[in-house]
Amino acid sequence: MGSRVIMECAVGGKFFSPIFSSTRSVAVEKRKLPSLHKKIKFCSSKFKIQASQAEAHLSPEAELQAEKRGSSTGVGVGELIWPSPSDGTPFWKKDFPSSGVSPEVFADVKDSDPKHIIHVTAEMAPIAKVGGLGDVVTGLARACLSRGHTVDIMLPFYECIQKQHIKDLTVITKYNSYHDGNWVPTTAYRGVVSGIPVIFIEPSNLFFKGQYVYGGSYNELEAYLFFSRACLEWMQQVTSTQPDIIHVHEWQTGALPLLYWDIYHHLSLKKPRIVLTIHNMEHYGECSKEQLSKSGLEGSVYASIDKAVDDRTIGHNPERLSLLKGGIVYSNAVVTVSPTYLKETLCTGWLASTLVRNRDKYFGILNGIDITMWNPATDIFLPVKFNDQKPEGKKFCKYYVQRGLGLASEGTQDGNHVPDITYKAPLVVCITRLVPQKGLHLISHAIKHIEELGGQMVILGKASDVRVQTEFEGLAKLHNQGPCIRILLMFSDELSHMLYAAADMVLVPSIYEPCGLTQMIGMRYGAVPVVRKTGGLADTVFDMDDQSNHNKANGYSICVCIYLFIFDRFVFEGIDEGSLNCALDRAFTYFREKPDEWNGIIKKVMEVDNSWNNTAGKYVELYHSI
Ligand code: ADP
Repeated sequence: MGSRVIMECAVGGKFFSPIFSSTRSVAVEKRKLPSLHKKIKFCSSKFKIQASQAEAHLSPEAELQAEKRGSSTGVGVGELIWPSPSDGTPFWKKDFPSSGVSPEVFADVKDSDPKHIIHVTAEMAPIAKVGGLGDVVTGLARACLSRGHTVDIMLPFYECIQKQHIKDLTVITKYNSYHDGNWVPTTAYRGVVSGIPVIFIEPSNLFFKGQYVYGGSYNELEAYLFFSRACLEWMQQVTSTQPDIIHVHEWQTGALPLLYWDIYHHLSLKKPRIVLTIHNMEHYGECSKEQLSKSGLEGSVYASIDKAVDDRTIGHNPERLSLLKGGIVYSNAVVTVSPTYLKETLCTGWLASTLVRNRDKYFGILNGIDITMWNPATDIFLPVKFNDQKPEGKKFCKYYVQRGLGLASEGTQDGNHVPDITYKAPLVVCITRLVPQKGLHLISHAIKHIEELGGQMVILGKASDVRVQTEFEGLAKLHNQGPCIRILLMFSDELSHMLYAAADMVLVPSIYEPCGLTQMIGMRYGAVPVVRKTGGLADTVFDMDDQSNHNKANGYSICVCIYLFIFDRFVFEGIDEGSLNCALDRAFTYFREKPDEWNGIIKKVMEVDNSWNNTAGKYVELYHSI
């Protein structure tokens, strides 16, 4: 399938630096360095990874490797121990072999004129992942490394970070970074995660302490302001590194472009250009002028329409700032994660006017997935591996999950026979943050409807809002003892891999969805997507019954039940329950009445190339253009 990545506008980011040079911060003058301070070079400038996506495509060599690791793509279920809900340790918490993700990635493409890119981010998979942001940063970084670029990631050293996935973790230096009138002693660590060099920043105060990536008992906004400045301080003062690109993500690092152009660019950090990727426009980093001043910038300087004021607060007392808006204005290029979301954001939401004003540097680049990390042929978490050529293992994964979760699966079978119900009852999974954006009312309605249709459903979700958590706990209590629904309120990367592999369908009923990864991952694991047609879902899922687009058809759009006789197809409309029913009904009918065609769809969705191979090149073009 050809590339579906569309860059929405010609690359040609113009820039504006002179007009901001007068806003230089007073904090620059106050800087001081620890006495033992040494200049340290980034280790990663010499670091290269070789790519190994060949394994993902199952070259004979890779297949052999996979088999050596006991992960045959044949249906080797002989030694499988079937799990049960009464097991002391749930099946997704047992010991797995150490990560099968090779730090080596083979890529066909090597770019000429490689760049040095530093991502500054609040999330990174798998060590500090909450949602898609973590996947995207890791996937894009690995793709660029494999194309010959030098890539580093800078991440807060969260107390909850999953250290077991970090190789060669070492303290590299201690330095001071400015916050709220003080220079805060800070430790920088170095380590390697999934083949990517990572610099971890750990302040000596309370920032980033706690059980979770977000929601600790410290001021989150101020913590990320501190982090943004500490990363620049590290580059400019500690290492004297001059990356070509500093790539920031989301509101958390939205202040970095301001700090760069108005402080650090006036010091010795001259070379970098800044790219901001917006993964979700819902979070815009609401900030008071006083809070921004704590970073060393003069907050009131940014309180204008053409800079960082939150337009909705103009004339209010006090007016507020938005770090995301500031990031948009001050970055050389701004990317959002799908072409359709780009169009949507230019028309709706209070940031639309800022985006329109900055249209010539605003691009829509579809996210990809890391097909080495997400590979059913080599996935260490799967009881049986499979691929599009040998999909039989998928049925065993489904049966394994059904037994492990106590879903109806007709008692104990001998390992080589999957019971009839595994073939007959479609299993729908929904793996998501439980937030309104994801269509909570549609998710809870799906439980009822799927039960009525005689299917099975597993929800793996985590809620940050207590009311949502309580609502889903209620649903779990109601359904989890029955034969066909399981609602698991937690985050588990391991279980998510197994569920994608087990699923016949993956449900994504989002109200809006900037890109969405679960439909792409689901497809890679042979699960047919049932999605609401919005944002990146509209760019990646094409309705089976849309006769006008039959070649691309690979899933089901949630639509209202208006049947257009003239065109002989369903059309998308609305966010109501009837629309969801309609999509599920069509998918279930297909599954049950046309098994051969259904197997054809599974093969088709597994063949869709949603990898970073397709899309990383668009980022590289952009890096070059600025
Ligand atoms: P978002 O970024 O809005 O959360 P995406 O679809 O872009 O949504 O990415 C979600 C990512 O997070 C996917 O990799 C998905 O598998 C993962 N994920 C979401 N919720 C959970 C969960 N409860 N447990 C494990 N993984 C999850």
